[in-house]
Amino acid sequence: MIATPPPVGRFAPSTTGEAHPGTLLAALLAWLDARAAGGRVVLRLEDLDHTRCRPGWSSQLVDDLAWLGLDWDEVVAQGTRRIEHEAALDRLAAAGRLYPCACSRRDRQGGRRAPDGGWTYPNTCRGRPLPAGGWRDAGEAVRVRLDDGRLEIDDESGIDLSQDPAAELGDPVVVRRDRVLAYQLVVVVDDAAAGVTRVVRGRDIAPSTATQVALQRLLGLPTPTYRHHLLLVEPRGDKLAKLHGSAPASALRARYRADELCGLLAGAVGLATDHRPTRPAELLPAFAWSRVRHEDLVTRWNGELAFEP
Ligand code: GLU
Repeated sequence: MIATPPPVGRFAPSTTGEAHPGTLLAALLAWLDARAAGGRVVLRLEDLDHTRCRPGWSSQLVDDLAWLGLDWDEVVAQGTRRIEHEAALDRLAAAGRLYPCACSRRDRQGGRRAPDGGWTYPNTCRGRPLPAGGWRDAGEAVRVRLDDGRLEIDDESGIDLSQDPAAELGDPVVVRRDRVLAYQLVVVVDDAAAGVTRVVRGRDIAPSTATQVALQRLLGLPTPTYRHHLLLVEPRGDKLAKLHGSAPASALRARYRADELCGLLAGAVGLATDHRPTRPAELLPAFAWSRVRHEDLVTRWNGELAFEP
């Protein structure tokens, strides 16, 4: 009998600001998912976007997660992985998949609505060649031509992730106009390099999954299992965005001990029957996704954290 290797999970926050309750919950769920199955879990700091990320946010995030009681088998800063990212772009270029694109967001406005709430890119520049110097010399954004057609993808929680990403979202940008290497490409390269077998993340990212699976196929990389979970939302129904600065970790840490905050989060999503202080490791024995709430949870911060079912 062949033993199944233990799973490898990851938590991959963008380091664009202080952690907030949604960040901590996502980290806790990804950690519990891997650890409860005896697996490894990697913390990947998504720090490539120099227009939004600051090194200070990375170190603070690492510290906040350790404070909460989460440990990692590996901590990887995405910025250290440039060689691998470029190698993936070179492979896509060699396969004739890359093209430059000068279209602006405004060009797409009023067109077709994409599943992520934005506007579909109608693949206008497909067929335009890269300059002689290749993608590195393109003075504009670079996109990858995906295969057309629908991908059938299941989410472990039952969400239907199936999509025709090339038609519904449009070919993704892989190199931004400001030369930042784009999320959709690097997430795929880095998950594969870390041997990630389970991607557990917030439901806001679900519409990107088909694009990521399409890129995995172009690069010959394995597809992990996906599970998208509930979000903590602000009363108006938006995601509790890191950039809004709502309930930043520094304020939470000033108000709560780590076990108090962990207990509040665990109680709010169904991982504990009360809000008693607890450490992440104490949640492991009883952890099961069937106990985790599916619906998003309205969260208020008024100096006190309050959840409204
Ligand atoms: N870096 C993304 C974020 O913080 C998440 C990436 C992912 O989990 O795939 O929203």
